[in-house]
Amino acid sequence: MPSPNQATFFVENLLTWYEENGRHDLPWRADAATPFNVLVAELMLQQTSAGQVLNVYGDFVQKYPTPESILDTPQEELADDIESLGLRKRTRYFREASEQLVENYDSSVPDTRSELLELQGVGEYTATSVLAHAFEKDVAAVDTNVARILSRVFGLDYDDKPEASENWELAEELLPSGRSSDYIHALIDFGAEVCTASNPSCESCPLEGICEYRSEESS
Ligand code: SF4
Repeated sequence: MPSPNQATFFVENLLTWYEENGRHDLPWRADAATPFNVLVAELMLQQTSAGQVLNVYGDFVQKYPTPESILDTPQEELADDIESLGLRKRTRYFREASEQLVENYDSSVPDTRSELLELQGVGEYTATSVLAHAFEKDVAAVDTNVARILSRVFGLDYDDKPEASENWELAEELLPSGRSSDYIHALIDFGAEVCTASNPSCESCPLEGICEYRSEESS
């Protein structure tokens, strides 16, 4: 586990990097995004790049601003609208989750983890992301990229295993209260731009000073 100084260094430098370099222009990160927009974006981002989602997200949320608008559309038309994203089961996720929202939550997106996890297509990462981005809850989410960053910086031996409970516990321990959305977005962008799976940019990395991986590589 990191020392308090390491934890502070990690979070402060990560958030500073994000403020200066993060992808603040992604529309699902805008303040105007509704909880339903955020849920749609998180379902789209499953196994899919932000670039691919960017190509369809704007038109999609304009056409489908509510769960009812999805249910009012023939399944084939909905499938055509998200075909470029791949993952055919996503059409079923959208329809069945929309049915659940209409029937059980008065067409709103619920704001508890247990309720979100009941929605079709929603797993731990998606539920946590919705809680952070739509409802500003103090929660942290771990995917493969986040697991890689934590493993490298803190010298953990459960590299690239996002489901490892140690990863989730550490990510939550480091979580800056009240900044969960920025924190999660920062980790996503940092993993895509700096601490990449191959050839990480260690020479210009703001976390270099505490990074175990970097220390071992240069010793
Ligand atoms: S120093 Fe290298 S390995 Fe460590 S966090 Fe930065 S980019 Fe990743």
